[in-house]
Amino acid sequence: MAHDPNCPFCQKLADPNGWPEGDVVWRFPHSVAILGEWQQYTGYCVLVARDHATELSDLGEHRAAFLDEMARLAEAIGACFRPLKLNYELLGNQVPHLHWHIFPRYATESDSRRVVWFALEEANADTTKKRHMALGTVPRAEAVARLREWLTNNGAPAA
Ligand SMILES: [Zn+2]
Repeated sequence: MAHDPNCPFCQKLADPNGWPEGDVVWRFPHSVAILGEWQQYTGYCVLVARDHATELSDLGEHRAAFLDEMARLAEAIGACFRPLKLNYELLGNQVPHLHWHIFPRYATESDSRRVVWFALEEANADTTKKRHMALGTVPRAEAVARLREWLTNNGAPAA
């Protein structure tokens, strides 16, 4: 698999303790699913490609599998937490290594029709808001356990 020693995600992928084990939702053959920081969006996950690539078009033969793993994770989030809508974001402006942000959006949000980044930018500037956005209503361990159970029961490929 392609690897860039200067890339923070490549470093985490190469390190068995790169992410706290309790945050690892699933190890797919071509990506790793991590429970994200902002659990006010209950079930928010980041899915990191195992290959170092900046654009989907660079992923070559693993692209279809990576996209399938993303859709399976999204399906799990949808089934476990019943959001109003899922947002799929592949940005890479800060870390140019392919990773999906999968944000479940809920009817209870005050601005559920806007992208999340404005609210998160506000939260990052305010400690109380930040804590609120990160914490959410479902404990992290429970969110991870529910996602793992669904993925197990639905035959998600694991590596
Ligand atoms: Zn990388």
